[in-house]
Order: sequence, then structure tokens, then C-alpha cells
Amino acid sequence: MSTTATRQIVHIDEELCNGCGACVSPCAEGAITIVDGKARVVREELCDGAGFCLGVCPTGALTVEERETVAFDHAAAEEQMAAKLKTYVPQECFRCGTDEDHAPLVPVRTQGRSTWVCTHCLPALIHG
Ligand code: SF4
Repeated sequence: MSTTATRQIVHIDEELCNGCGACVSPCAEGAITIVDGKARVVREELCDGAGFCLGVCPTGALTVEERETVAFDHAAAEEQMAAKLKTYVPQECFRCGTDEDHAPLVPVRTQGRSTWVCTHCLPALIHG
């Protein structure tokens, strides 16, 4: 039986979600899935509320809220991550093309789209 806890968890505004799927990949635990054209946290025990998905959403549909839900399940999340690695497609920096296997990537909004920038290119973005 799963325990409950008051903790942070991702909230998806269905009115704002356009189903683009950009938030699925940043969720390392595999908590977000597209169902009937909308993003959903299908298994709340897999969402740790870290919010790494927030920055990539082009519509602002994602927020982190605090509420009572099932406790985060580390073991189940690790199981999901292992399964996800089998279909893993590395993302690339929009500036230099370096993929996440060679440099950490962080989400960035630019020219109306959500994308990724590597830590090598990030200082140039910040300082010009
Ligand atoms: S990134 Fe935003 S708009 Fe796209 S599927 Fe996720 S919640 Fe919906």
C-alpha cells in the first residue's frame, strides 16, 4: 500500500497544454506521458516535483504545486529510468550541436521556441 505525503508535484494546466510533448524528455523519472493529446502525470509516485520540465513548456502549462499525494517512490522511478534509457535519444545544443552525452544541457527559450543549450555555449548567451 502506498503512503501519502504533502509535497511538491508538477501540475499541468490542461487548458494551456497543446500536447507538443516537449516536457516528456526532460522528466528523467518518466512521470509525464501524452494521453489523448495532453501531457499528464500518469503515475504521481514517479514525479519528484523537481520541475526540470517547466522550462521547456512553450505555453506555460507546467507549474509546481504543493499538495497531498502519494509519496515519491525512488525504486519505481529508478526502474522507469532504466527502461527509458533503452529508447533514449540524446538532445542537442541549438548553438553548437553538442549532445548531452558530451556536455550538460539546460533548457532555454529563444525566438519563440523551447530548446536546449550546452554549458559551453551558455556563458556566451549570458554575457554576449
Ligand atoms: S511541454 Fe507544455 S504544452 Fe507541451 S506537452 Fe508538455 S505541458 Fe503540454
